[in-house]
Amino acid sequence: MPETSTIAIIPAAGVGSRMGVETPKQYLRLAGGKTMLETTTGIFCAIAEIDRVVVAVSPGDPYAGNLDLGRAELFRTGGESRAQTVTQTLAALAVEAAPGTLVLVHDAARPLVRRSDILALIGKAGEVIREGSAAGAVLAAPVHDTVKRADGTGILTEDISREGLYRIATPQAFRLGELLAALLGCPQATDESSAMRAAGSAVAVLECPADNIKVTRPEDLAFVNRLINREGEERTMDIRIGLGYDSHRFASGRKFILGGVEIPSEMGLAGHSDADALLHAVTDAILGAAKRGNIGVLFPDTNPKYEGADSGKLLRAAWDLVRTDGWRIGNLDCVVIAQKPKLNPHVPAICASIAAILEIDPERVSVKPKTNEGMGFEGRMEGVSVQASVLLTR
Ligand code: MG
Repeated sequence: MPETSTIAIIPAAGVGSRMGVETPKQYLRLAGGKTMLETTTGIFCAIAEIDRVVVAVSPGDPYAGNLDLGRAELFRTGGESRAQTVTQTLAALAVEAAPGTLVLVHDAARPLVRRSDILALIGKAGEVIREGSAAGAVLAAPVHDTVKRADGTGILTEDISREGLYRIATPQAFRLGELLAALLGCPQATDESSAMRAAGSAVAVLECPADNIKVTRPEDLAFVNRLINREGEERTMDIRIGLGYDSHRFASGRKFILGGVEIPSEMGLAGHSDADALLHAVTDAILGAAKRGNIGVLFPDTNPKYEGADSGKLLRAAWDLVRTDGWRIGNLDCVVIAQKPKLNPHVPAICASIAAILEIDPERVSVKPKTNEGMGFEGRMEGVSVQASVLLTR
C-alpha cells in the first residue's frame, strides 16, 4: 500500500452505559431505520478518498455481523478502553500498511459528521504533515458559551476565559506509525490527540460545526434524530400508531390490578400473570406500532416464568426493546370498559404508574373508564376489556 493511502478506523467496542438501555449505543436505530454504527460507517464508505474503512468491535460482539456496513472491514480488535481498541486495531493494520498511512479515527457515536468536514480534515492533516508544522489534525468546535468551573457542592468557583477553547471532536487524523507509538506510551488517553501531545507532537485544529456531537445520553439521540429528519430531503419524521386490546374475566380471590395500581374491589381478574389488562393492552399497542410482535409471542403464558408475572416488568421489557429501535412515545390513550368498580378516582394514580414504567411525563398518558351500560360481557360483570392506542415517533 502506498504511503499516501488513507484508512478510517471506527472504534465501536464501547458499552454506552449512560444511555440507560442494554443495547450498546452504536447499535441503537436512528431515524431512517439504520443503526448509529451503520449511519456513521456509511458516511466514510461513501468517500472515495478513503481507501479502507475499518470498524473495530469487541471479539464477542453479537451485533455487528448482522449489519450492512458496506465496504467497511470488520476487525474484532476491541479492547477494554477506546485507546486499547484503537491501539489493537492500528497494530493489526501495521502488519501490512505503511507507517506513513494517514489514519482517521472517528467515534461510532458521532453520526452527524459532515462529509465536507472529513474531506477538509484529510486536506488539513496532509498539509500540516507536509509543512512539518504538526503531526496531524483534529476536528473541533469552538466554545461559544461562557465557561466556569464549579466545586463539588455546585457553587461556581472560577471564571475561565473561552478564548481559544475548543471541544475536541472526531475524526482525528495522524500517521499510523506515530499514532500507534503514541498510544502505546499513553494507554489512558481519552482521545488520539491527547496521546500525540503526550508524546510531544503538535496537533492542528480544524473547526467543525457544533452539531458533530457524540451521542452519550438519551436526549442526544433525540437531537440526532431531529437533525437527520431535517437534513434528509426525502425523509420525514417517522410516525407510527399502535392499537392494543385485552380482556380478562372477573374471578373471586384475586386482586384487581389496573395499570400497575391495586384497586379495591370485591372481584379481581383471572389470568396467568397478574392479569393487568390495561398494561397488557398498552404493551401490545407499543409493540404493534413498532412492528415488534405482540405480548403473547414475547411472553407466552405457556412459560412458567411468567406465572403471576408483574405486568409492569413485561411492559418495561417490551418498551426497552422498542426504545432500542429509536422510538419515543408521543402519547398514550386508553379506554377501560368495566361496569364496576368505579375507576375515575383512580385515574391519576394509574396514569402516574404507567408513565413511571415508561419513564415519560404523565401528561402524555390518558386513561378513560367507561361502563358498558349493562350490555355485553363487561355490562354483565363477566370481565373487563381495555383498548389502548399509542403514537410513536423517531
Ligand atoms: Mg392479558
